Amino acid sequence: MNKPISRRDAVKRLVALCGAAAALRESRPAAAAEATHLEPNDPTAAALKYVPDAKKVDAKQFPSYQPGQTCGTCLQLQEGADPTWRPCNLFPGKLVNVNGWCQVWVKKS
Ligand code: SF4
Repeated sequence: MNKPISRRDAVKRLVALCGAAAALRESRPAAAAEATHLEPNDPTAAALKYVPDAKKVDAKQFPSYQPGQTCGTCLQLQEGADPTWRPCNLFPGKLVNVNGWCQVWVKKS
């Protein structure tokens, strides 16, 4: 037969559960849970002329741009779970398209 618990024990258990829930919430990878796709009209993206499709780069405006320069070949791109949208060192909390481009592209070695 189950032993009844006191109010004091119930409060202790509730506090312990709340602490465990808070610890789990803190340990969750924030980037994976909250990252959103980077939009070209984001202020930083606009400043760096980010486009989600490198085929739309205006070659006259950016004469240094060469076909094949994409986020997927850039040093700043990080590993990610999604093969198409991945984190970039320059845009914390956002995901860039691997086919995108911005004017600070640097060749991955
Ligand atoms: Fe893409 Fe590189 Fe620009 Fe990041 S820094 S948006 S990976 S081109």
